[in-house]
Amino acid sequence: MFLEIYYLDSGGENLKDCIFCKIINNEIPSDKVYEDEKILAFYDIEPEAPIHLLIIPKKHISSLNEVNKDNAEEISYIFSKIPEIAKKLGVQDSGYRIVSNCGEDALQTVKHIHFHMLAKRTLKWPPG
Ligand code: AMP
Ligand code: ZN
Repeated sequence: MFLEIYYLDSGGENLKDCIFCKIINNEIPSDKVYEDEKILAFYDIEPEAPIHLLIIPKKHISSLNEVNKDNAEEISYIFSKIPEIAKKLGVQDSGYRIVSNCGEDALQTVKHIHFHMLAKRTLKWPPG
């Protein structure tokens, strides 16, 4: 008899099914731009701008709602690396937008916190 172990995160999500955890574990391919021991940046599969990346922590945090003092370092680390990623893509002078959709009203579809980096076109404001 096999015993299936399901890992639930603090937001009640099943980590086994998390598409971004699978990308981190190379179970699903991705077009990576930057990776280190803490974070991964890869191209969005359905780009909304000529450059559209997703920057994610390797630690599973389901959304901005789950950020707290114990995991905030994962998020601040992402922000410390954004200038380097922007420079690598050659958009630090032309500009870019960082967006994190949280929850239903913001149309968050993947429940692993991620920061969209949109660049290489003039973006509209306010969004959507
Ligand atoms: P959000 O709607 O803010 O939750 O953003 C999720 C993003 O993940 C969307 O822009 C999707 O296009 C993107 N996405 C979903 N699956 C993949 C994948 N396998 N590789 C790259 N991007 C993906
Ligand atoms: Zn995950």
